[in-house]
Amino acid sequence: MIIILFGPPGAGKGTQAQRLVERYRLKQISTGDMLRDSIANESELGRKAKSIMDRGELVPDEIILSMIRDKLENSDYKGFIFDGFPRNLEQAEALDEMLLQLNLSLDLVIEIVVEDQLLISRIQNRVRESKNARSDDNEEVLKNRLHVYHQSTEMIKPYYLKKKKLVEIDGMRSIEKVSNDIEIQVNNIGA
Ligand code: AMP
Repeated sequence: MIIILFGPPGAGKGTQAQRLVERYRLKQISTGDMLRDSIANESELGRKAKSIMDRGELVPDEIILSMIRDKLENSDYKGFIFDGFPRNLEQAEALDEMLLQLNLSLDLVIEIVVEDQLLISRIQNRVRESKNARSDDNEEVLKNRLHVYHQSTEMIKPYYLKKKKLVEIDGMRSIEKVSNDIEIQVNNIGA
């Protein structure tokens, strides 16, 4: 089973991805987490990515795609949940090619829909409540991340709609309700 979780920053993709991991034993591939690990390990890649991430811009495709290729090729899993990838059309097309080469195919793209204003207030709360807020967790950077989302990431929506892979879930409800709806969609795969 291969699923993409897609939605704006702060929509709850990470939380929902973890629930799917527990429920369906999929391997989570979060490019944001992988990049933060590289920064924590002070690797060359991490150094390159940090200032881009701190501005809320997208890290270059070649860096992201080589991380994904590496994960897919060196994994025993046959089921994956992508969270935060793909983030533009080029990445979506490259993913299709990689899956084809590995004889895998995408089952479902779940869009978690949340309005901008709610995302901004969620981030404001996160910053207030957390001593360990991410270095890209502030209102100004979030606004840029939202801008990048609307400019680049949302472009993948028509791509997956055309392939009849996309379903929309209302993300402006409790974590439980959102995850119940996601499970219904996942259980429908192949039905
Ligand atoms: P996330 O944790 O998914 O919100 O990602 C945090 C930051 O990492 C983003 O704002 C981007 O700077 C970078 N990033 C994560 N995934 C990607 C991706 N697929 N393509 C480009 N940049 C990414």
